[in-house]
Amino acid sequence: MRDKKIGPLDGFRSKAGWPFVAEMALKYNEEEKNWKLEFDFGDDKKNEESGEIVEFTDEALGACPKCGSAVHEHGSNYVCSKAVPTHEQPTPSCDFKTGKVILQQPVEREQVVKLLATGKTDLLDKFVSNRTRRSFKAMLAWNPEEGKVAFEFEQREGGKKYPSRKTAAKKTPFGKPAAKKTAVKAPAAKKAAKTAAPKAPRKAAVGSLKPSAALAAVIGDGAYARTEVVKKIWDYIKANNLQNPADKRSITADGKLHAVFGKDQATMFELAGIIGKHLS
Ligand SMILES: [Zn+2]
Repeated sequence: MRDKKIGPLDGFRSKAGWPFVAEMALKYNEEEKNWKLEFDFGDDKKNEESGEIVEFTDEALGACPKCGSAVHEHGSNYVCSKAVPTHEQPTPSCDFKTGKVILQQPVEREQVVKLLATGKTDLLDKFVSNRTRRSFKAMLAWNPEEGKVAFEFEQREGGKKYPSRKTAAKKTPFGKPAAKKTAVKAPAAKKAAKTAAPKAPRKAAVGSLKPSAALAAVIGDGAYARTEVVKKIWDYIKANNLQNPADKRSITADGKLHAVFGKDQATMFELAGIIGKHLS
C-alpha cells in the first residue's frame, strides 16, 4: 500500500490452467480524483514460444488495438493474427493477446468483440482473486498507455458523481473506437450548432443596421451590428486621440464626430444613445 503497488505476484492461475504473473497497482486517476486499484496481467508468452504455424479457423473478432490486424481465438487466448507465427508472417510482429479465461472469469467472444470495438468489456462479475479467493467485478479495458488489457473497476459509491462514461470515452484507444467517439460527440456538436443557429440569424439582423450619413463619415458606410459600430467609433476616437487626457471618459468631438454628437463633447456613457439615433 505504501508503495502503491503490489507484486509482481505469481500464483495467479486461470481456470484453463495457465499461470501468470501480475502486478496490482494503485493509480491515481486525475479525472476522477480517485485512487484506483489496477491489475495488470503479465504477458502470457507460452503460446508465442511454440513457433508453430498457426491457422485460424474462427471469424475475426475485431482489429488489434496495437496494429490493426485481425484478432482471433488461439488456444487459451484471443490473439492478434500478427502475434503468432502464420504462413503470411512466420515471425510475429505484434504481441497483443488476452486470455479466454481470466481469474476464473470466462471472457466470451462477444466481450472481446466489444473490447476491440469500444475499448472495454461489460462489467464482468465472475473474477476470483486467487490470493484472497474473493470474487470481484471488473471490466477488461484496453490501456493504450501501457499497451495491454487491464482491469478497470467500477466507480465506488462515493465516486458516483463523477460519471464513469467520461473515463470510458477517454480510454478508447484505437481507430474504430475513435470513430465511435466522434460519433458519440457528433450529437453534442450538433446540439451546439443548433444552439448557435438561432443566434446567427439574430446577429445577421443586428448586423444589418445602416449608419446615418454623419455616422458613415466616421465608421464608413455599410451594414453593421450595434457592437461593431461602438467598436468602430472607439477605434476612431483612439486613432484620433479624442479622449480628454484629464478624463478619459470624456470625448472631444472633431469635425466628423461633431456631426454625430451634435455637440463639442460627449461622455462615453452617452455614446450608446447617440449611436442609436444614427442607426436605422
Ligand atoms: Zn496486433
